Amino acid sequence: MDVLRSFLMDVYRRLSAHFGPRHWWPADTPFEVIVGAILTQQVAWRNVEQAIGNLKEAGHLSVDGILSLSEEKLGLLIRPTRYYNQKARRLREICRLIQDNFAGDVEAFLNQEAAALRAQLLAVRGIGKETADSIVLYAAGHPVFVVDQYTHRILQRLGLAHGRESYDDLQRLFTSNLPRDAALFNEYHALLVALGHHICLKARPRCEVCPLGDVCAYQAGLTAAARAGEAGLN
Ligand code: SF4
Repeated sequence: MDVLRSFLMDVYRRLSAHFGPRHWWPADTPFEVIVGAILTQQVAWRNVEQAIGNLKEAGHLSVDGILSLSEEKLGLLIRPTRYYNQKARRLREICRLIQDNFAGDVEAFLNQEAAALRAQLLAVRGIGKETADSIVLYAAGHPVFVVDQYTHRILQRLGLAHGRESYDDLQRLFTSNLPRDAALFNEYHALLVALGHHICLKARPRCEVCPLGDVCAYQAGLTAAARAGEAGLN
């Protein structure tokens, strides 16, 4: 357990030294985090920025503002994100939940216990664990670890996962071995996103510039294969 904890903290420190503070999540308000977390499903962040810009410009980036629009009109404003009709429905559903159960008070909605908040988010059709946890961590500030496709890939390459683990398994890897610290989880997830986006690419990882090169199982395998090749063993 202690070995894993040390390893995870070593990875964190290396990534932090390499990328610096990530200042994630980029949003002016917790409500904007909620909206961004829903809009970013299966689309690049620049598209989300355009859609949020549209909502701001039109004066509809609020619970009331979103509920005052039909699904079709909301869909037009968030059109730069893919699946905008489904996302419009999700946004309206979550705003309806906040309106009906918390009198439209976003702060009261987010101030619930983490488990209760997560359960309510997961009950909204189309909101999965990654989106719910992004909101619980980045909007509400509760210490939950967000797992995404980059986390899966990087853990697998580091040799900490074999690829068939569930979301919960991978989440537990962090939450059981690291201090329950929202600031740490916030930054750690953002650093893994940076690594997965810029260096640990799906098809051709850029191991030669990676700060984890000397602790990575994938890279060790490449090095061993190269050495075997030099020695004429393969
Ligand atoms: S060394 Fe290569 S495979 Fe390992 S984490 Fe870095 S980029 Fe990914």
